Amino acid sequence: MTAQKPKLAMYWAASCGGCEIALANIHEAILEVDAHFDFMFCPCLLDTKKKDIEALPDGAIFLTLFNGALRTEENLEMARLLRRKSQLLVAFGSCAATGGIPSLANQHGIEHVLETAFLNAPGLDNPERLIPGESCTVPDGELSLPPFLQRVLALHDAVAADYSMPGCPPEPEQILAVVRHVASGAPLPPTGSLLGCSARAVCDECPREKRNRLAPRLLRPFEAVPADDWCLLEQGFACLGTSTRGGCQALCPATAMPCTGCYGPLDRDSDPGATALSTLAAALDPGSAPGQDEGSLHAGLRAALAGVPDPLGTFYRYTLAETVLADRATEVEP
Ligand code: SF4
Ligand code: SF4
Ligand code: SF4
Repeated sequence: MTAQKPKLAMYWAASCGGCEIALANIHEAILEVDAHFDFMFCPCLLDTKKKDIEALPDGAIFLTLFNGALRTEENLEMARLLRRKSQLLVAFGSCAATGGIPSLANQHGIEHVLETAFLNAPGLDNPERLIPGESCTVPDGELSLPPFLQRVLALHDAVAADYSMPGCPPEPEQILAVVRHVASGAPLPPTGSLLGCSARAVCDECPREKRNRLAPRLLRPFEAVPADDWCLLEQGFACLGTSTRGGCQALCPATAMPCTGCYGPLDRDSDPGATALSTLAAALDPGSAPGQDEGSLHAGLRAALAGVPDPLGTFYRYTLAETVLADRATEVEP
């Protein structure tokens, strides 16, 4: 009789599905995963049901990779269920680790989010102006949707996650390295550690040269074509590689796209948005002329920062659930 393989689960909560695609992007190495684990739960790929998980003894799943933020009561219930059933629970990807892009909705109340999604978004075709309710009656019976939580949470806001793997999504090479490490039985780092990333900044992995120049202002990506081998930030593009944890091999700047910070701030104790803002501000020299009055100095600074049209979405793109701003329960309307 062959020994049973340890069980592996992957779950998506408020997720775009990109984290599952990242796992699929390990390509044929998925066979290694299959060789080491009984990959038994993944709603994107497998037909295992929630009741099958409920029927397992507690701790029966060896490793659960949980992606997506917690937006609904159902997300919360699954987080609690999988915590109970898993020996190791990993917040997989920036949505689970720090709230990610879904947590940008925490700027607004639920009414505003629903109206934007179903009534006001460009390109909608909703002539009856319908907004999904929590329940409705159809000829076959009552249908229900899980209620929203008041605000989007990261996984560890609701349950104790053993580890986090940052990235939006985590890079396939990093996923494979983590899975191989866990499968090998080698000692794991202390609980609460980050997996699948570097302790150094994206800049340390970036092939672009720094020339110690300050940019006069920040540029939107469409405003200029960046020079090939020169640091994007020094050219004025809002690249957050200086303050972002590495591990992606500078994927974005290597292809001329500024780093938007998906691996999270290098310093875990810092406020991510404040760190991102100071990273960009420190790279600018909006110019100063002797005798310049305060008004024109401010105007110069405003012009220099105008390349960031959406400050909250730039500085807290992946982390809004994780900041002091996170507890704003009331509507913040434009
Ligand atoms: S971390 Fe990124 S890729 Fe993964 S679910 Fe969230 S948005 Fe999608
Ligand atoms: S700031 Fe961006 S472009 Fe410049 S070196 Fe760092 S990662 Fe590369
Ligand atoms: S360069 Fe920045 S945004 Fe791009 S994958 Fe790496 S950490 Fe994420």
